[in-house]
Amino acid sequence: MKQAMMSYVQPVMVAAVLLFWALAPAAWTGSAWSIVIATLSTTAAIQALEWVNERHASWRLTWREFLTDVFYVTLSYTVIAWASKTLADEPLTALKHGLGITTLWAMHLPFVAQVALAVFLVEFGQYWMHRLMHNQAFFWSTHAPHHHLTQLNAMKGAVGNPIELFLISLSVLALFDLPQPAMFCALNVLAVVSTFAHANTRFDPPRWYAFVFTTIRHHSLHHSTGYAETRCNYGNSLILLDRIFGTFGEGEAEVVGQGERRRLSIGEQFLFPARPLIARYQATDDRRERDGAEAAA
Ligand SMILES: [Zn+2]
Ligand SMILES: [Zn+2]
Repeated sequence: MKQAMMSYVQPVMVAAVLLFWALAPAAWTGSAWSIVIATLSTTAAIQALEWVNERHASWRLTWREFLTDVFYVTLSYTVIAWASKTLADEPLTALKHGLGITTLWAMHLPFVAQVALAVFLVEFGQYWMHRLMHNQAFFWSTHAPHHHLTQLNAMKGAVGNPIELFLISLSVLALFDLPQPAMFCALNVLAVVSTFAHANTRFDPPRWYAFVFTTIRHHSLHHSTGYAETRCNYGNSLILLDRIFGTFGEGEAEVVGQGERRRLSIGEQFLFPARPLIARYQATDDRRERDGAEAAA
């Protein structure tokens, strides 16, 4: 009985988010702050659930992990959100107006269909961006810090190199005409699903839910220590895309982390893509020093 109730925690939370945005007064949903308050609230709720029903004691949040996660959530809501809006969404909106692109049909869809469309648009882009990151050296160097995580927790989806966080925030949503509450609802649903997909909680959902949405079970496999095991389950929130494009992998992992599982500091996460450059600079520096020493001798 308890097990059955536990399995509905995730579907119920997604349904509650849908109902909230469908029914909330326009005065709330019209404010740009509503999405920030709503996603931060759901993230905090999922984080709190880690103390209600833990998945692995080895993933229990420490102060160091918690403060790092909070730093990255703050970075995502400020610098990354600003960069994404200024460098991607606003130019795309200008392009849309310049070319006279309209998708007014989308404005007349039922609310749930509008949300599903926005979820699909965002996730389709994220799926291919994530897959590219696992298949191209520079893109991988931006994504690797996320795979150096040695434990998973609710806010860990936000932890990574800032270039990666920017790249993964890109979407073509701005090219579509959709009501703001539907867009915000989609972003909130995605936040709930991807937060649960990183959370140290044991609310394993029913099979129909895990067929469509990414869960910690399948995402932890993507975070495992081996190379082959990580080359599956790229869908951030829609595991359905992995099933469609043939990259789905069954299984889960408790031991997570690449690079011999050495935890990276925030500084190392920021500098990670520049490592080849730094190594080359240090090599020339060493050579100069050696040459200088030899000349002096
Ligand atoms: Zn990955
Ligand atoms: Zn992840």
